[in-house]
Amino acid sequence: MKKRLGIIGGGQLGMMITEAARNLSDEISEIIVLDPTENCPAAQVGAKQIVGGFKDKNAIVKLAEQSDIITYEIESGNTDVLSNLNAEIEPSPSTLGIIQDKLSQKRFLSENELPVSQFYEITSLDDLREKIRELKLPVLLKVRRDAYDGKGNFKITSENEIEKAYQHFDGKSLMIEKFVDFKMEVSVIAARNTKGEIAAYPLVENIHEDNILKMTIAPARVSENVISNAGEIAKKTMEVLKGAGVFGIEMFVDQNDKILINEIAPRVHNSGHHTLQSCKTSQFEQHLRAILGLDLGNTDLVHKTVMHNILGPGGFEGKYKPVQLEKDGIYLKMYGKDVSKPQRKLGHFNVVDMNDSKNTSELLGIADEIKNIVSIISLD
Ligand code: AMP
Repeated sequence: MKKRLGIIGGGQLGMMITEAARNLSDEISEIIVLDPTENCPAAQVGAKQIVGGFKDKNAIVKLAEQSDIITYEIESGNTDVLSNLNAEIEPSPSTLGIIQDKLSQKRFLSENELPVSQFYEITSLDDLREKIRELKLPVLLKVRRDAYDGKGNFKITSENEIEKAYQHFDGKSLMIEKFVDFKMEVSVIAARNTKGEIAAYPLVENIHEDNILKMTIAPARVSENVISNAGEIAKKTMEVLKGAGVFGIEMFVDQNDKILINEIAPRVHNSGHHTLQSCKTSQFEQHLRAILGLDLGNTDLVHKTVMHNILGPGGFEGKYKPVQLEKDGIYLKMYGKDVSKPQRKLGHFNVVDMNDSKNTSELLGIADEIKNIVSIISLD
């Protein structure tokens, strides 16, 4: 029987899940998204929308009434409400609960002997000073919940920043982590279906600017050893986490090639957007296959690809000129957001080595040219 799929969040990730559902029209009859922004990206490509907040109990209950299965594209859903729904939810609300709180996520990983940077809960300014004495500077002070794209992070590099950092997040639950002097950030997009089968995409390299992902390079330019260690860590992570779906596992490669997990997203992930063209099965279709209990799709990287995000430029908020581009091997995806804001994710493009004729430096060179052509310019 076909299922009605409810998604908490209807942004770009919900949009691309909705589009991927077209390949699975024998399995899915309808997609309903819950999102506070009217005519959200997913609604623009055919999803029905309930306008409401991600934590709004009535709205979540309404979504559950209209859906046979619920998933999410953001991790800030209300786990208390979700846990009490009489509905199939994937990944499970208990997994979402562990991941939503950065401290409980790190505890969970370290209890399962997965490598993470040393961390502590912080309960007061004195506590922060004491833990810094032990960890030594630099450290990252992190807000435990509802922080994304690095917005809840403060890097403390000197003693006289400690108080300022603490006050910056006044009243929030906090943790600290030893700052990792990484040589590269990498990630694995992995999936588990409801039958327990696991599949992972190849390791990719992520370049962040101001804490926001700017580019993903697939495959990552690392040694075989790093690839195999990261693969093992991703596999073990998937084995200990409950629930079906796609997970984004972000990791650091330190100066000695040691791998530490930074963070797990219980959902499709920006560093998996390359799979739209680089792999036979996109991460979006894979997520649907996983939660519907279908066999997982092939995860081989068929084409080397560089994914580049299109972000709202600094100092500008408002409507912007339409962004268009037609060029062989370049796949532009805009998310249909009306208004640009600094650092807002408005779209991305993939530079795809369709004919297996280019090396990564050439793909990066093309991405650099294209990013100027697709830059965001005010409509006025
Ligand atoms: P987060 O939102 O916690 O994933 O952090 C966003 C970005 O901050 C990461 O992609 C890293 O670039 C950086 N970051 C987070 N934690 C650490 C850490 N312990 N050491 C070094 N950089 C970090």
